[in-house]
Amino acid sequence: MTPPADAVIDDVVARLEREARSGLTGVLNATGILLHTNLGRAPLALEAIAAIEHAAGGASNLEYDLDEGTRGSRYDRLGALLRAATGADDALVVNNCAAAVLLVLDTFARAPDGTPREVVIARNELIEIGGGFRLPEVLARSGATLVEVGTANKVRLDDYARALSPRTALLMRAHRSNFRIDGFTGEVAPGALVALGRRAGVPLLEDLGSGALTDLTEYGLPAERTVGEAIADGIDLVAFSGDKLLGGPQAGILVGRAAAIARMRANPLLRALRVGSATIAALGATLRLHLDPATRAAIPLYAMLGAPLDVLRARAEALRARLPALTLSVVEHEGFAGGGTLPLAAIPSLALAWRPAHGDPNAAAERLRLGETPVVARVDGDVVLLDLRTIPPGRDGELAAALEAAR
Ligand SMILES: *Cc1c(COP(=O)(O)O)cnc(C)c1O
Repeated sequence: MTPPADAVIDDVVARLEREARSGLTGVLNATGILLHTNLGRAPLALEAIAAIEHAAGGASNLEYDLDEGTRGSRYDRLGALLRAATGADDALVVNNCAAAVLLVLDTFARAPDGTPREVVIARNELIEIGGGFRLPEVLARSGATLVEVGTANKVRLDDYARALSPRTALLMRAHRSNFRIDGFTGEVAPGALVALGRRAGVPLLEDLGSGALTDLTEYGLPAERTVGEAIADGIDLVAFSGDKLLGGPQAGILVGRAAAIARMRANPLLRALRVGSATIAALGATLRLHLDPATRAAIPLYAMLGAPLDVLRARAEALRARLPALTLSVVEHEGFAGGGTLPLAAIPSLALAWRPAHGDPNAAAERLRLGETPVVARVDGDVVLLDLRTIPPGRDGELAAALEAAR
């Protein structure tokens, strides 16, 4: 029996639409999670997008020294900006922070001749970031031997000191990123660990992850150790991400002592972790925006963090007025930085709460996801919540159209 022509057409259209969506496509992030790893983390500034177009839309001086007319190094393109932004002696940019940590471990702690090379880290910092990044496993993969010190809640300087041996290759600190320990806890001040490393002649790596360049208390957030503070403490090597609190493209950044960076530059593994011109262009433009506090708000992450509640409320009320056929209310909502940064610091925000006429909010959220402009929202009880802090203000019209179409 031949199926009716309409059914065949509907089936073909549905399949074509599914296929179109399986490629990379833009969405509206209505979750209130600013750095949503599943939604691509930090959106780029217009300046960063323009820089990509300018440098990567054609040929560039990626590895060409224009003064000398000879071969240059891509790793020199961001050095001055990263030194200015962090106060470090030198810098190196790789594919992401996981790659940065891997490169440090491979350079300093791999044991090619079978002699164990040990990395000393506190038990209360043995993190799992998600997406398969678990520090003990990354360490094992790099060929280094993990030496855990302290307990699950407390570590003392003496614990580190007793773990040092002729086999020690590296001391390591790691940002807890996505959890917090409270109660009977103890940490070692970074400066004390720096001094211990110096006395023993062992470099200290700090995996900062989020990589704040600026004081986040200005945005009403808890204080977050900045890259500059870590460098000022004397940490030899600091690793952080480009697309977390820096608000730029996916990248892993290593800053620190010139001699330590030079050793990593000479590691053949660097070739496999290198970044291309689009990343270098976007990161450079984002760093330039950071250098002047007046231009930092041009970085979308900082525009989102700085949006006042009354501005969000006005946008929410305007959307509600524009969509009289939908049952919408304006509700207080808690946003989060996301991306393994500031896990417990809620960011006061506002959301539209949509109560779909035909019941099922999960079905309504699905219609939003599958619309022409996909919208990713959160379902809470019988409403769909759409947080406005993570929607660029210029795209409220598209959000309204998406809601209308999903009605
Ligand atoms: C997020 C994070 C990483 C991984 O960063 P990517 O840039 O996603 O590779 C590594 N370490 C810490 C402490 C992190 O928070």
